[in-house]
Amino acid sequence: SPTRPSCTRSCSASSIAPRSTAATGNPTVAAVEARLAALEGGGEPGVSAVLMSSGMAAITSTLLAMLRAGQHAIFTADVYRKTRVFARTYLSKFGVEFDIVEPSLAAIEAAVRSETKIIFTEAPTNPYLRVVDIAGVVELARTKRIKTIIDATFATPINMRPLALGVDLVIHSTTKYLGGHNDLLGGVVIGRDAIVGAIREQLGTLGAICDPHNAYLLGRGLKTLALRVERHNHNALALARMLEEHPKVAQVWYPLLDSHQDHEHARRVLGGGGGVISFELASGLEAGTRLVDAVTIPKLAPSLGGVESLIEQPALMSFYDQGPEGRAALGIREGLVRMSVGIESVTDILGDLDQALA
Ligand SMILES: *Cc1c(COP(=O)(O)O)cnc(C)c1O
Repeated sequence: SPTRPSCTRSCSASSIAPRSTAATGNPTVAAVEARLAALEGGGEPGVSAVLMSSGMAAITSTLLAMLRAGQHAIFTADVYRKTRVFARTYLSKFGVEFDIVEPSLAAIEAAVRSETKIIFTEAPTNPYLRVVDIAGVVELARTKRIKTIIDATFATPINMRPLALGVDLVIHSTTKYLGGHNDLLGGVVIGRDAIVGAIREQLGTLGAICDPHNAYLLGRGLKTLALRVERHNHNALALARMLEEHPKVAQVWYPLLDSHQDHEHARRVLGGGGGVISFELASGLEAGTRLVDAVTIPKLAPSLGGVESLIEQPALMSFYDQGPEGRAALGIREGLVRMSVGIESVTDILGDLDQALA
């Protein structure tokens, strides 16, 4: 009878110590993970980070690692659209039940069941920069032994510290502010060692590995994160105030404006408002198109978080495929313009928007 071949070195290495394989034990990746854990955890011991290949990889791997059939998860309605698509397409396929509710404490509380294991929220959100009552959500979750996860991509660890507020896991798309230069794709999950360790255990199986060059670029980006975010905050607040005064602008959404519906929660948890502003022109979609064609500094593109200003019309770009009814259902107004304000001279940015509005 055939004899079973003896195990090769790589076989025993991968079955005994999965963390030391090339895929999951790269020193450049580990160094950047340690810096992200220190940044988000404020230097507290017992916090770790795991890098992944994209923001969506971090979100889907975390949910797959933490949920199983028969359990229930709550998502707030304005979390990143692909996160909601993942819940609808995959969690339901795997027998996980979920609700997608308004980002208010009352709506979240009403959705809690005995099977609820996770509350997944985001702040500030796209495109209306909503900021949920994070401390309230944490308190609710603790009494029911539910884990809280927040996608804090728009805030960065410079503007918001969810772990200090008691949130269990913080997720960032490092593609945005953490990388900061529109030249990498990545994601990170940060929290207590035990829970992040359990997610890391799945990394080799789910395959969302961060490659070392990507980690190297992210490490370079992180060196200027604090400087960049300060400048994004400063420029965006100045532009939000200018737009709010402008007669051709109907409405502006920026979390630190008194006119924003969540400005009280925002002031409590955000050190700065971040770089993203949404606004609607009084004369709607076509005026918006003339505006995005007339600006000279922002590039016409739907991402955010890089040093260069970007501008887009959600109805014609990021939410175009939803059609008018789909956008109405998602609350995306036809005339909306979204700008990711970069780190250029604030005088130049205000002047450019002013001439384009004229
Ligand atoms: C971009 C983004 C994501 C997805 O990140 P990718 O790196 O593009 O996969 C998730 N959440 C938020 C809030 C984002 O802005």
